[in-house]
Amino acid sequence: MIMAAQRTEKCKRPPVTLRSANTIAPADKIGPILQILDQYYPTAHCTLDFTNPLELLVATVLSAQCTDARVNQVTPALFRKYPSAAHYARASLEELEKDIYATGFFRQKAKSIQGICQVLVAQYRGEVPASLQELVKLPGIGRKTANVILGNAFGIPGIMVDTHLGRVAQRLGLTKERDPVKIEFDLMPLVPPERWTKFSHQLIWHGRQICAARKPRCLDCPLFPYCDFVSLAT
Ligand code: SF4
Repeated sequence: MIMAAQRTEKCKRPPVTLRSANTIAPADKIGPILQILDQYYPTAHCTLDFTNPLELLVATVLSAQCTDARVNQVTPALFRKYPSAAHYARASLEELEKDIYATGFFRQKAKSIQGICQVLVAQYRGEVPASLQELVKLPGIGRKTANVILGNAFGIPGIMVDTHLGRVAQRLGLTKERDPVKIEFDLMPLVPPERWTKFSHQLIWHGRQICAARKPRCLDCPLFPYCDFVSLAT
């Protein structure tokens, strides 16, 4: 009984997390970090399928609390049925909800897509604007989504701070901030602007594949020598 109790105790032990003695300043380690990211994630890219800015905007709204793979299963039929902002703007909300049901939170997402598209039709001739200042004026669109659209649909660099990027940047010691906008502003001067979009995808891929929120695989991580946070969880 004692041994069983001890085993249970051992199983409950939280992962050992060390804050490393790494004292390399962000400006000094960003170069090697970028090199390693290029080596390990040379093809990192947006994993949402789209052929124009409107499709990416809609796909990005649908991707909230949903995997990109699931969104990509829904969007081919959706994009065929609603080829323009005007189609979404005048759609039956109930029908749009059914069309996006599989992505979850379908009521809120349908309302959001229709609201955005009504503004696009009323103020932007149905086109998605190619500027951060204009994009963030659209209902429910923040800097992250705006940067996703700018970087991937318009080729205008932007740092897209999602939950993965924020977590990895914090652990690497590139920022001490928790607020996504503050993280973005910490990273902008560190990373050359032409690298912002690719760097974002690389950090997001790293967060998904190795630096998971609960169990980062630090012993397999190529960024280990530059990281401020090392978990020995097994
Ligand atoms: S996996 Fe570990 S070593 Fe790699 S970036 Fe994440 S916390 Fe740092």
